Amino acid sequence: MDLSYILNHLGEEREHYFGAVSPPIIQSSNFALRYVAHLREAMLQEFDHHLYTRGNNPTVAILRKKTAALEGTEDALITSSGAAAMATTLLGLVRQGDHVVCVQNPYSWTKHLLDQFLPQFGVTATFVDATHLAQIEAALQPNTSVLFLESPNTMTFGLQDLKACAALAKAHDLVTCIDNSCSSPLFQQPAALGIDLVMHSATKYLNGHSDVVAGVICGSRHLIQQIFDRAYMVLGPIISPSDAALVIRGLRTLPLRMARSQESAAIIADRLAGHPAVQKVIHPWREDFPQRDLARQQMSGTGGLFSILLHTTDQQAIFHFVESLQSFLLAVSWGGHESLIFPVAAVHNLPGRDNPPFPINLVRLYIGLEDPEYLWADLERGLSRLPTE
Ligand SMILES: *Cc1c(COP(=O)(O)O)cnc(C)c1O
Repeated sequence: MDLSYILNHLGEEREHYFGAVSPPIIQSSNFALRYVAHLREAMLQEFDHHLYTRGNNPTVAILRKKTAALEGTEDALITSSGAAAMATTLLGLVRQGDHVVCVQNPYSWTKHLLDQFLPQFGVTATFVDATHLAQIEAALQPNTSVLFLESPNTMTFGLQDLKACAALAKAHDLVTCIDNSCSSPLFQQPAALGIDLVMHSATKYLNGHSDVVAGVICGSRHLIQQIFDRAYMVLGPIISPSDAALVIRGLRTLPLRMARSQESAAIIADRLAGHPAVQKVIHPWREDFPQRDLARQQMSGTGGLFSILLHTTDQQAIFHFVESLQSFLLAVSWGGHESLIFPVAAVHNLPGRDNPPFPINLVRLYIGLEDPEYLWADLERGLSRLPTE
């Protein structure tokens, strides 16, 4: 389907609402039916009917159609956060006694879901370095039912070979899931490579304006309906109609934003690679990226996110560096209009917490929509304060 058609027209039935170019926000919890026969039908199959907004809402339905089409899947569900997308999916798939194989160091709350939350209900997980398919295969148990991927990772950019993972999963009758937030549907379409369920934190690129927390789950009608019946209606994680309208608005400019972020990030990554305070740039499109070939094979681009390793491991020096920046906001998250910086050093030596699995001198940058020269001038000023080995 044509990308421009998806983003500008798909799912929008303008003849039903006065030709309005911007879709209406149907801020209604409830939908009235004229006949008992229709009520009976809707109650039997809530997945397909407008009965109550915990299940379906017309504004949210527009977003479902668009996101499913962006990932090339039959259907999608929208959730009130990316974390809810991961949790709702897994709770809709697993049963007591099941086992999940997951990539090492996934997004922190995905990790929490799999190693803290689900074990309470008899579901276990093994985390593997999925750079090598053999490691996934070695972790499989007779009760393994799900393979959970995240490619690229949003701190280290480690990839999995999605086609090979999908084939392995098929051979062992596993459902494959991927957190595709890092690439957006524009730069990687896992369903075309055989992955069953594709999730996003829509908070990031899909909405793109740092004003909504949301998530999406894309997949076959069969799997999406299973997740709807077993978990979505019980947990109630639907997004509000007004937030759905904001995400629809964000999607209008997705290709422009992705292209701009990608282009500026490449410029800044290049300059950082030549800076004496920087030991290494970790960016999937660079020549020295260890999985560069795989990245080019299964992705068509990489957005505004990348990491650097500084020469210094002095925590205070890193704090001073990030605090000295004026155009980069010090924050978690990414994918909005604004550039951000997140030093892993900030979460090292926190009282009562384990150190994160990432080196103390790793700093993640997100390049937003600003002029790259404006951003570089600021970075260069900040980096000049750091030791150069
Ligand atoms: C942010 C993020 C999430 C969680 O999404 P929320 O919308 O914050 O709940 C999940 N996975 C990745 C890779 C993320 O970056």
